[in-house]
Amino acid sequence: MGTNLKALVAASGALVGGVLGVRLEISTSSHPRCAGPCTDGARIWLPADWCARWGVTSRDVVIAVLAHEAGHGALCRDIDLDGPSEELRADWYAGYCLGRLGVSAGRFLALLKRLPSGPSHPLAWIRGEVVRQGWARGLADARLGR
Ligand SMILES: [Zn+2]
Repeated sequence: MGTNLKALVAASGALVGGVLGVRLEISTSSHPRCAGPCTDGARIWLPADWCARWGVTSRDVVIAVLAHEAGHGALCRDIDLDGPSEELRADWYAGYCLGRLGVSAGRFLALLKRLPSGPSHPLAWIRGEVVRQGWARGLADARLGR
């Protein structure tokens, strides 16, 4: 899956970057200090072994995860949100990019239900609500040609 994942990540990253008006720099290696997807604000890590573990093989989910990480960075401060936590802000961007691209959020929402929640990551149903809000806004913006 290595080469396929890299191609999928590159293509998905280009789509997300197009929506957000930035060029994403993405690595499929593991970050030395985090096991899952993460960002330092400049680069995004989407580790191939994390993708394999959670069955992340489809374009829609890769788009959502990359958009989530981009939402953590300093790239996306232009859209004013109503004060969600850091993780929910990132989830909003995941939904927003999917909506803008006209891609279903269904598989990403299913992944959120399987991922563990914790002190930093709210419960899946709360995250799902925010993803849906972002998705609706993204779809509306796409229809308005924004
Ligand atoms: Zn996050």
